[in-house]
Parts: sequence; structure tokens; C-alpha cells
Amino acid sequence: MRFKTLGNSGLKVSVAGLGCNNFGMKIDQAATDIVVGKALDLGITLFDTADAYGNKGGSETMLGKALGPRRKEIVLATKFGLPMGDGEYMKGGSRRYIVNAVEASLKRLGTDYIDLYQLHFPDPDTPIEETLAALDDLVHSGKVRYIGSSNLTGWQFTEAAFIAKERRLTPFVSAQNHYNLLDRKIEFDLVPAVKKYGGSVLPYFPLASGMLTGKYKRGRDLPNDGRLTQWGERGKGILTDANFDLVEKVTAFAETRGKTTLDAAIGWLASQPHVASVIAGATKPEQVEANVKASEWEMNAEELDEMNRITFRL
Ligand code: NAP
Repeated sequence: MRFKTLGNSGLKVSVAGLGCNNFGMKIDQAATDIVVGKALDLGITLFDTADAYGNKGGSETMLGKALGPRRKEIVLATKFGLPMGDGEYMKGGSRRYIVNAVEASLKRLGTDYIDLYQLHFPDPDTPIEETLAALDDLVHSGKVRYIGSSNLTGWQFTEAAFIAKERRLTPFVSAQNHYNLLDRKIEFDLVPAVKKYGGSVLPYFPLASGMLTGKYKRGRDLPNDGRLTQWGERGKGILTDANFDLVEKVTAFAETRGKTTLDAAIGWLASQPHVASVIAGATKPEQVEANVKASEWEMNAEELDEMNRITFRL
């Protein structure tokens, strides 16, 4: 397993990570144990969850149980900010909410520290100063080791970096945003900000929820158990002709090099210097195995140029 450093920090993360949003949603505790066990055995150290995943708390609870004493071997990343209940006090980035949210996550995860605590979405009602100061206190208390952002724009990441510097607060070292071969929009705005101000990107939906795995073929029956099949109309919004055009080019690129579509999707992300880890989700151990293998492809300059030619679209 290759390791990369997370942003401007000393924290190393495995280049293949594991996204945990299926736990408590698509898969139960027994299947979660198998997926997590396979990831640990293959050397994955970054596990990414959120308080909201798994119908509010299910993913953290199942992940904590599946890890058991092996929790200390890994980098445990979770998030706060999405609604965890009704009303004004169960969401967001206020100090009042964060000090409660972290305790609830620690309890569900069965641990006394979180390695990477991420603001899930920007909170327009709370000054970022307040969020950063509350997170800084959690770092000083030892409950949290590093902090990260998610779904911020470039200006929001930059503003947070300036405020952290000006007030000597702990800065964000990561930016978790939507990023894959079908959607490269963050390269215009967030990626330059993150590169300049000390963060790494942790791409979410790295496989476009399965569209980039090669298991969906144009004009063929959809796999019954696939996420995009089960998503119905939402899935159809991803299984479009324009996306198939692009995926078919990626497949041809990969196959001429003895690789698969999945290898190209994960290998391309893993080859970006600004990406620290590819946190693909999985529902089966074979998927984890394939995703780890795919992350070993370090593309050369010619391959990266060709990928730009094939996949770049506005
Ligand atoms: P993804 O990684 O693009 O797709 C994962 C899905 O693709 C799996 O659940 C599985 O679904 C299928 N798959 C994975 N590996 C496969 C393989 N080798 N062969 C065939 N199919 C395979 O999407 P994601 O899991 O939603 O995103 C990754 C992580 O990012 C999440 O787990 C979560 O931690 C994070 N995330 C964050 C945000 C945010 O706002 N910050 C938003 C979304 C996700 P099926 O088996 O069901 O087809």
C-alpha cells in the first residue's frame, strides 16, 4: 500500500481509503464486518464516515463495532453538520452544536478520539471563525487530531485558511468534494485553493457511484444489485448517453494498457498530487480488493495527458 501525506500535516493516509456510507444503509453489520475486515487486511488505513450516514448514526455505530480494537491502527475520519434531528440545534457549524456532535460521534464510534473531523457542508448561518475556534478547542482537548472541510468552494477554503492563520487556529488540511473522471469541475476553483493553502483533496463519488466501474454497459440490462439500478430516476441521471460516451473512451484507454475502467478511474485520481486518498465505497470484499489494486496504477505523463484529452469537458 502506498501512503500520501494529508495536506500540510504530518498525517499519512493510505492512497486507497474506504468510504463508509453504505454501512447501515445498503449493508448490515455482518456485511460491514466483512468489508472492513478486508480493507484492514489489505492495508487500508483511511476510513471515512459521517454522523448522518446510515440513517443518522448507523454507519458510525457499525464502523466502530467492525473495527473493534483495530481502531488504533487506522485514521478514523468522520463529519458533522448535516441535520441529526429536528430543529435549529441539531445541525450546522455553531460552537453549541459542535461540542455536542463530537461527543455523540465518539460514543457511536466507540473511541475517545477522531483523527480527522470534517465540516460536512458550509454553514451560511455561522461565521467560519466560530466553527474553526470550536474545532481548535477539540484539537487542544485531544478529542480530535486534525480537521477537514467538505463541499466548500475555493473562496470558502481560502477564507478559512486566512482566518486560521490570522487567529492561530488549527487549519483545515483536507477538502472532501465531488470529484471523478465524469466531474472535474473542482479543478477550476477548489483545487488551486487547496494546493496553495495547505490541503489535500479527498474525492467523493470517485466511481460516480458505480458508473466508472465498468459494470454498467450501454444498451444492456442493469445489474440488479447495483446502486445506480436501485436509485431509479436518480441513477438514470448518471446513466446518460453523454456519460457512456466518456466511460467508453476511458475503457478503451485502459484496455489498450491491459487495465480496466475501474483501474483508470481510481488510478487517475490516485495519480493526482493534490489527491491524498481515494475513498471509494464498497458493498462487497471483492470490490475493496479491486479498488486497492486499481490504486496501484501511477500514471505517467503521457497517460495523464491522454486522460485529459479524453475526459476534460466543461
Ligand atoms: P463511489 O465510491 O463513487 O461508489 C461506490 C459504489 O460503487 C459502491 O458502494 C458500490 O456500489 C460500487 N462499487 C465500488 N467498488 C466497486 C467495484 N470494484 N466494482 C463494482 N462496483 C463497485 O461513491 P460513494 O461510496 O458514495 O463515495 C465514496 C465515499 O465518499 C462515501 O462512502 C463517503 O464516505 C464519501 N461521500 C462524501 C460526501 C460528502 O458530501 N462529503 C458525499 C458522498 C459520499 P454497489 O455495489 O451498490 O453498486
